[in-house]
Amino acid sequence: MAHVIVIPYPAQGHVIPLIELGQRLANEGVRVTFVNTEVNHKLVTSTWTEQESFKGLMNMVSIPDGLDSWEDRSEVGKLTESIMKTMPGKLEELIEMINNEGTHKVTCVIADGCAAWAIRVAKKTGTKSAIFWPSSVASLAPALSITKLIDYGIIDNNGLPIKDQTIVVSQTMPPIKPSNLPWAFVGDMETTKAVFKISVDVAEAATMTEWVTCNSANDLEPDAFSIYSKIVPIGPLLASNRLADQTGHFWQEDFTCLKWLDQNPVCSVIYIAFGSFTLFDQRQFEELALGLELSNKPFLWVVRPGMTKESTVSYPDGFIERTRARGRIVSWAPQQKVLAHPSVACFLSHCGWNSTLEGVINGVPFLCWPYSSDQFSNQTYICDIWKNGLGFDKDETGYITREEIKGKLEHLVSDKTFRGNAMDLKGKALVNVEEGGSSYKNLSNFIDWIKIKMP
Ligand code: UDP
Repeated sequence: MAHVIVIPYPAQGHVIPLIELGQRLANEGVRVTFVNTEVNHKLVTSTWTEQESFKGLMNMVSIPDGLDSWEDRSEVGKLTESIMKTMPGKLEELIEMINNEGTHKVTCVIADGCAAWAIRVAKKTGTKSAIFWPSSVASLAPALSITKLIDYGIIDNNGLPIKDQTIVVSQTMPPIKPSNLPWAFVGDMETTKAVFKISVDVAEAATMTEWVTCNSANDLEPDAFSIYSKIVPIGPLLASNRLADQTGHFWQEDFTCLKWLDQNPVCSVIYIAFGSFTLFDQRQFEELALGLELSNKPFLWVVRPGMTKESTVSYPDGFIERTRARGRIVSWAPQQKVLAHPSVACFLSHCGWNSTLEGVINGVPFLCWPYSSDQFSNQTYICDIWKNGLGFDKDETGYITREEIKGKLEHLVSDKTFRGNAMDLKGKALVNVEEGGSSYKNLSNFIDWIKIKMP
């Protein structure tokens, strides 16, 4: 029997789609050992059920990330350095331990593209391996183009932009802009260095594996898969994974908001969520609150604890009281279910790829508020290529004002073209994962390859 190790980068937006992949494989009779870091393992398995483990075929285990339990894992630079130092050895030990037990030897390693170090471990232990990129091809393209970008003098050897030259790969792909490279626009230098190292690693690992799969679809990125022909679309997995509810959350989902949505008219509620790690500064956070108030529409807003740079989240004076009748704030929502709810009119989103897919699969139009990494290219897809949403304009001080928020919300909701385009895109994306669709066929071929015994 095939036995796959699946290993995500330890962030929420990676763990969720890799669990979806693991569940797909387990449902096809493949044994799956899902490897989280110890900290994430505790979070994810606290609500893990028999149903989610597919009668024991999907087993959750953990290895240390090298940091002490009390250390801050939101510092990507520090976390990545520690992971790269500690986890390869620990993964090798785990594979050896499983193989020495002898009953179900590891036959394949599937590594998140942001955990490409695991591909080297697979090679070392003589195990076949594949990459799963949990985002778009457009977001992998810059990493695969690093050598060219350096040769053309666009970035230096550390990935930093030196020439402001935009590269248009195709009319249906977001252009590669030096200022928006996934590693260049992430905040501090340590993070930039770490994300650049991850990008160099995935580019190298892509040459070492037979399969580079991607949580996207031909009809979402029409030219991308022919230009980057090694990358194979097998998504959106969330649409083909109707086997179990979304799982793998780091925070407790507040299901009461679904009942609240039931009480609102069809297509009336603005859903606002910024994923798992976006940080707001206090002034911008308050401006967003006041924009929602000014818009005078029902809203469901996810405000994670610690979402602002201040120690506790604080709202403008009187905001909670004034909006109580039509606003609902939760600290973590069952997002896939929220976006599938008929009351949701639009999604004000940071445009993380999972959020983007979840909105697309439900035909929900977007208001884009990207912060870092691939979120800019996802915004370009939404606003310029798919045309199922709008972006914001900042004022001269670099802020998005309450009037801008109100204006764009009104435009998005009143102009039915956006909903129409969103519904068309939903239809196209679903065709890819239905029986006979291109992602469906690719995933079947991938699973067949996983099941083949190595000589
Ligand atoms: N999510 C959720 N509840 C929330 C906010 C987010 O379940 O209140 C999920 C969302 O459905 C998505 C993931 O968290 O699957 C976030 O991934 P994404 O790529 O959108 O953003 P990231 O957190 O990586 O920035």
